[in-house]
Amino acid sequence: QKAEWAKLVNEKTVSADGVHVELAANIGTPNDLEGVTSNGGEAVGLYRTEFLYMGRDQLPTEDEQFESYKAVLEGMKGKPVVVRTLDIGGDKELPYLELPKEMNPFLGFRAIRLCLEETGIFRTQLRALLRASSYGNLKIMFPMIATLNEFRAAKALLEEERANLIAEGVTVADKIELGIMVEIPSTAVLADQFAKEVDFFSIGTNDLIQYTMAADRMNERVSYLYQPYNPSILRLVKMVIDAAHKEGKWAGMCGEMAGDETAIPLLLGLGLDEFSMSATSILKARSQILSLSKKEMEELAEKALQMSTTEEVMEAVKAAAKLS
Ligand code: PEP
Ligand code: MG
Repeated sequence: QKAEWAKLVNEKTVSADGVHVELAANIGTPNDLEGVTSNGGEAVGLYRTEFLYMGRDQLPTEDEQFESYKAVLEGMKGKPVVVRTLDIGGDKELPYLELPKEMNPFLGFRAIRLCLEETGIFRTQLRALLRASSYGNLKIMFPMIATLNEFRAAKALLEEERANLIAEGVTVADKIELGIMVEIPSTAVLADQFAKEVDFFSIGTNDLIQYTMAADRMNERVSYLYQPYNPSILRLVKMVIDAAHKEGKWAGMCGEMAGDETAIPLLLGLGLDEFSMSATSILKARSQILSLSKKEMEELAEKALQMSTTEEVMEAVKAAAKLS
């Protein structure tokens, strides 16, 4: 099977009835690029920049960040690279920031919330990204967006730094797509409004499932509630994809669900444009999508949206998508 998959490295990902979707990779450092190329990644769909900040005792400088972003953009040779701005907090701590302990870190001061208050940290990252933008196809994505005002505030800081750099004579790419992670239910519910202002969505199911089901993604005791195929999750995913398409934007997914063989038939049917997963899952996913008819998966998804439990959905997918 592995040998069969290996033949697909340079193939496009096209469903049996001829619809192209993009298979992208999630990476944490420039060292992961080798795996993206060898597994046939068509893009980087999520570059988790927090690793630049972790495992050290002070913040990375603008130049250090610039070098990392440039390395990834150049390494991808013009293919899209979605860089997510700092998503610290929750399960990801930065001891040197000395943030006060919180009762509910997953519901607390993290990610974009922190960046919009500690604007010095955020501006440094934005400047590094803007400087790197002329070396490839950069798209910037903000994590943990809960309201439109957060998105607007983050975008305003980006535009300020763009103007500053241009005034300093630095070359910045003209067009940098700007998107958000959809990982908080409020944003999924209001996706039609967000879609008017963002260039793309990437659905972060790792958190979206945790927040929708009110079940800590790290807590074994409640892991039975962590249900990617629960119709409530599928309906939110559908709302996000439909809202994007209505405004002529694209919708991707970068949570674990995007690389899951039971979820892929449903996501194809729901119209997802980009699937971002660990590089080692790409060839298997490509092989699966090549064998699926998008039209048939649309019918499957339509039925799944009307089901009431995760078990029913799983059974239906198994039957329709010939899973073992
Ligand atoms: C997610 O929440 O789905 C996601 C991709 O982000 P992370 O796993 O880094 O929180
Ligand atoms: Mg997340």
